[in-house]
Amino acid sequence: MSATFSMRIHLRGLVLALTVFSAIAATANALYASYCVQRDQLIANTLESNRVYAAKLAESAANFLKGAQQQLRYSAQHVVDSLGSPAALEAEVSRVQEQSDSFNSVGIVGADGVILAASQSFRGFLGARVDSPGSRAAIQSRQALVSPPYVSIAGNLLITLSHPIYSRDGRYRGYIAGSIHLRNESALQELLGRHHYQDGSYLYVVDRDGKLIYHIDPSRLGEDVSHNPVVAAVKQGESGARRLLNTKGVDMLAGYAVVTSSGWGIIAQRPTAVTLEPIQELIWALLGYAAPLAIAFLLAIWWCARMISLPLSQLATNVEHHDVAVAMQRVRSVKAWYFEAERLKHAVIWSFTSLQEKIGKLNLASITDPLTGLRNRRGMQDAVEQMRASAIRYGVIALDIDHFKNVNDTHGHSTGDEVIRHMAQIMRECSRPADVLCRNGGEEFLMLLPGAGLKEAGQVAERLRKRVEAYRMPGIGGITVSAGVACWQDAGAEPAQAFAEADAALYAAKQGGRNRVVLQGQA
Ligand code: GH3
Ligand code: MG
Ligand code: MG
Repeated sequence: MSATFSMRIHLRGLVLALTVFSAIAATANALYASYCVQRDQLIANTLESNRVYAAKLAESAANFLKGAQQQLRYSAQHVVDSLGSPAALEAEVSRVQEQSDSFNSVGIVGADGVILAASQSFRGFLGARVDSPGSRAAIQSRQALVSPPYVSIAGNLLITLSHPIYSRDGRYRGYIAGSIHLRNESALQELLGRHHYQDGSYLYVVDRDGKLIYHIDPSRLGEDVSHNPVVAAVKQGESGARRLLNTKGVDMLAGYAVVTSSGWGIIAQRPTAVTLEPIQELIWALLGYAAPLAIAFLLAIWWCARMISLPLSQLATNVEHHDVAVAMQRVRSVKAWYFEAERLKHAVIWSFTSLQEKIGKLNLASITDPLTGLRNRRGMQDAVEQMRASAIRYGVIALDIDHFKNVNDTHGHSTGDEVIRHMAQIMRECSRPADVLCRNGGEEFLMLLPGAGLKEAGQVAERLRKRVEAYRMPGIGGITVSAGVACWQDAGAEPAQAFAEADAALYAAKQGGRNRVVLQGQA
């Protein structure tokens, strides 16, 4: 096989590559479609569960605030008559703080901002004026309030819930406030932190101004995150769920809800990447399950590809034999089991057959005299070689038409040709099938008679001479022929010797007056 052929892709490889490519494309497509469906479903489920979770938490926070506010309202009504008694106020403050663990500290502040009573940690500030944002807001609004986060005079980051104290005649007397620390343990912390789970989900709470009042990272408490799209949405009072990039550029799935009473926003979110992790595992699992079958499938394809290419490569290989007959035999033995291979096989056999026919015709033409259909010199030479190889003895008759020139001159060249053809026909009639008849050139002929000795050959020559003599050629009448007869008897002798002797005998026949047969040795 030449280098050019071996550089080409093999059909087996081609079929294999094509099938593997389609299988991979189909699998990748199916996996991608499955990935998309799973991804959309996971995202939708996570968004919905975060939305529900945020809404639930908002409800819990609202209940907590409501309970805490109720405590303060009750206490505000209770202390209005004892504002002048520091001991009674102190007892009330302690009672409120101990009644529940809603507040980290409790204090009562007069209408002028002076601390009248405070729980343990604030005792040192008794009689001092508070000028915190919580205090200012409470005194200004004279309503029940939830403050924004601020740093207290004791240095704690906190929010305060306050309730105004009105005397029975409706005069504003100050307020009672409970603080909830944002960095230390608190009831609110417990409420929110209790729900925190470990799968990358987390939640944070912002106040109505978009400042963080709860976050798993305490260092961020108090930070303004209003620019976050979800925080912007809760500040507008919206609840719902959406996918977004958080402040740090992380892709998140967030559910959010508003605590209506305080304007707080609760956002529960989970990184999208974490949410989608199970899909990757799923895809690997799918591939793991599919692998054994895929390998079996590949082996089957490889085998099929081999079976498809086999007849073609066998045809190609078997054709390459120098002997056409052997090549044809080998091509016939190829099992072409599918339509195209069978057609190809037939085409190859057909072209071989037609080639053989053409070669046969050419061979025959090359050893045949076109005018008479007898063998030419070459054809005779072949026969001589064969008989010499088989050591078959034979008689040789050299013939020459007498005065043929006259025929040509008198009747024309084409009539001369006609005479030559008739002569060939007479030779055929006077010979056996095994005899070799040859036109030696012009009006000279040779007959080889296998198995014949000089005597038999002489008899045949004589019979032929008589037949020619008696024959009436159309348009010209009778002609005669002279013959010289010799014999090749000795396998060691040169055939040319026998031909030369036949020629010499013919010459003698001519010399002797023509229309006669002269045998070798009679000359
Ligand atoms: P002879 O043999 O009796 O001595 O006399 P001849 O006239 O036959 O003499 P020769 O053998 O010398 O002449 C043969 C003639 O045959 C010469 C040539 O013109 C003619 N001839 C040779 N080949 C052909 C051929 O193919 N067709 C025809 N019509 N004539 C041919
Ligand atoms: Mg002659
Ligand atoms: Mg002659």
